[in-house]
Amino acid sequence: MSESIAVVGASLAGLTVVRSLRARGFRGRITLIGAEPELPYERPTLSKEFLQTGEPVGLLEGHAETRSLDAEWILGQRAVGLSTGATHVVRLDDGRDISADIVVLATGARPRLLPGFETAHYLRDLRDARRLRAALANTTRLAIIGASFLGSEIAATAHESGLEVTLIEQALLPSIGVLGETVAAACTALHARHGVRLHTGTSVLTHRDGVLELSDGTGVPADTVVVAIGAEPETDWATADQTMRSATHLHADDGFLTGPTGRTTVPGVYAIGDCARPLDPSTGRHRRTEHWHNAITQAHLAAATITGTPAPPPAVPYFWSRQYGHLLQFAGTAHPAAVPHLIDGDLSSPTFTVRYDLDHTPVAVCALDNPRLFTRHRKLLDRSICSAEGSEQRIAG
Ligand SMILES: Cc1cc2nc3c(=O)[nH]c(=O)nc-3n(C[C@H](O)[C@H](O)[C@H](O)COP(=O)(O)OP(=O)(O)OC[C@H]3O[C@@H](n4cnc5c(N)ncnc54)[C@H](O)[C@@H]3O)c2cc1C
Repeated sequence: MSESIAVVGASLAGLTVVRSLRARGFRGRITLIGAEPELPYERPTLSKEFLQTGEPVGLLEGHAETRSLDAEWILGQRAVGLSTGATHVVRLDDGRDISADIVVLATGARPRLLPGFETAHYLRDLRDARRLRAALANTTRLAIIGASFLGSEIAATAHESGLEVTLIEQALLPSIGVLGETVAAACTALHARHGVRLHTGTSVLTHRDGVLELSDGTGVPADTVVVAIGAEPETDWATADQTMRSATHLHADDGFLTGPTGRTTVPGVYAIGDCARPLDPSTGRHRRTEHWHNAITQAHLAAATITGTPAPPPAVPYFWSRQYGHLLQFAGTAHPAAVPHLIDGDLSSPTFTVRYDLDHTPVAVCALDNPRLFTRHRKLLDRSICSAEGSEQRIAG
């Protein structure tokens, strides 16, 4: 077994792989390197509770867990290069080199910048969230560019804090690619129900004299502007320096390319979480997923592979979103040809459950405020969809 492991990125995926490695009996040296100065915290709360309370939620279970992980923490230091070989070396921005037999890349993602709006608010980490929270305290009218899950959550939270909120979305219907037309329309209706304005099928041109000018000629008054148009994987740090071996050997187009268990194209280097683009054995395609549950799943898979211990049972992708006090949950794989079937509730009411079938086979389930029924269908999907995937993963090891 390898004697030392360096994990780059000390957040959800990075912490989970360390937990899983220790739980699976890895006794060697672990170094956890994180660009943020804070110990790992729950990122999903940043667009929800944190904007109201200002209290981050830590991921670690106190000092006892920190001690039991027995890892060397290097926080507030960015990795700026990776040299791979018989021993790998992670270079830090203070010039230090950290050597390890195995490196796990868990550097997440950063907000996609909107040209012309680089100085607007973006929300990815605690520093962004603190800045946004301070700005919202002095805001009457908030405009959010991008109405997918993140933009919608910020809109809902700001609305609950008494702000006048406008959402602007380039697509005709937000989140249609994931939820399909019927369910996306039902979820989008939540904004209107709470008095949040939504402009769709239009883009922003400028923000001048407190007014956002839209491409359809509308002017949206806004004291504060948030841009939430997606994220890009944090991979440049490992591939930008062409003098380092990893730069040419790591494939990192839209995420570090990996097999199903997190192995990258360089032996002994793994990638997990938002920064990774693993092979999905059910489709034969590489796909990057930016959800909490995915970061956990990939971390356990990588830890199992590194330690040669059994992989966790296969599970379908899962995410949730909270808006206006409602819980939206989705599990499975979105497919444009999947047909939605209402299995409980009413799409015009605040509670419903929809199952998506492809060729008469369930492939996904989505629910608004119906966690019990949702969980039952999610478990069925885990059992049916993942049985083939599970055997492939066990063979691939
Ligand atoms: C505001 C917000 C709300 C969300 N809400 C939900 C939700 O409701 N439901 C859901 O399913 N998912 C949600 N997500 C997504 C979920 O939080 C992410 O999928 C998850 O955090 C991914 O974990 P990760 O460890 O891969 O990446 P991250 O959490 O992004 O962590 C990566 C870490 O690596 C560090 N890093 C980056 N580059 C370097 C470097 N060069 N050197 C050292 N460290 C580096 C970063 O600073 C960061 O701490 C939300 C995300 C955000 C931003």
